[in-house]
Amino acid sequence: MNAWPHLIAPTNHDVVEAAQRLKGIAHRTPVLRSNTADEILGAQVFFKCENLQRSGSFKFRGAYNALAQLSPEQQERGVLTFSAGNHAQAIALAARLLDIPALVVMPHDAPTTKMAAARAYGAQVVTYDPLNEDREAISRKLSQERGMLLVPPSDNAAVIAGQGTAALELIEEVPRLDVLFAGVGGGGLLAGSLLATKAALPLCRVYGVEPEVANDGQQSLACGEIVQIPWPRSTIADGARATALAPLAFDILQQGAEGIVTASDAQLMEAMRFFAERMKIVVEPTGALALAGALHGGCDVHGARVGIVISGGNVDLPRYARFLSD
Ligand SMILES: *Cc1c(COP(=O)(O)O)cnc(C)c1O
Repeated sequence: MNAWPHLIAPTNHDVVEAAQRLKGIAHRTPVLRSNTADEILGAQVFFKCENLQRSGSFKFRGAYNALAQLSPEQQERGVLTFSAGNHAQAIALAARLLDIPALVVMPHDAPTTKMAAARAYGAQVVTYDPLNEDREAISRKLSQERGMLLVPPSDNAAVIAGQGTAALELIEEVPRLDVLFAGVGGGGLLAGSLLATKAALPLCRVYGVEPEVANDGQQSLACGEIVQIPWPRSTIADGARATALAPLAFDILQQGAEGIVTASDAQLMEAMRFFAERMKIVVEPTGALALAGALHGGCDVHGARVGIVISGGNVDLPRYARFLSD
């Protein structure tokens, strides 16, 4: 790779190449079924379990796909990113596997498990105050000072292509999916899922799901340009508190997404309880967005074959216990 062509829009071909790169490195996560979910939704539901992915979320896919394509010089200088948790953790693990130095900029109130995991994978962690400081400005400054390449969570073609490999695996395994739901923060997961899905299944309806208080993506699709909202500190979905869609992802969403629906904290907790009680799996609040959206977003799924991306499972246990018992 000569330059770093991360600002060129990714295509389905990039998702297919990412899948090759990830073979034997990312887990091919299981697709689970639940009779109860089928009954509740009046549909056939297929859960793609990225809570069981390495580093605990789908973000490992995009992170590894991006870092594996860096030049030897870039790898030697190292990488830097900003993230509330899962992307940081994913970059830290991918960097360790590829023997690349990594630095992550995290909000000081990020879940302690996520911060601890990034450190345990060998990354340096720098914290900031999300209410008063701009993480992108801090990251750009550190990147310049240290010569480390900035790999943002969503606004990067290789990251988006990597995120699409989860949906690619799902549609390989479950033919003729009619509807797909995926959580939305910066939009990388939804954009990658669209690239993977639409090439094979142009009629598949692909919905994003955002926290109710962080519905910048929904607003952006409604008005045709990227809407920036203030930092939404009040949602439990800590992985989807991005204040704006990434431009690269937005273009893809505008072309292909059926829409973006929202879920409240109470609905996310209900979905987490469902996963724990019925399916015996630990899902973090952000990871429950897709199911909550399918249940409450008002989309017609009756009689359909529905894919749900369970996007992550990283949650502090005391917090998790509270969500289950509330
Ligand atoms: C990051 C993340 C999302 C949202 O993904 P984007 O690519 O930022 O839209 C959803 N769920 C989990 C668990 C995440 O970590």
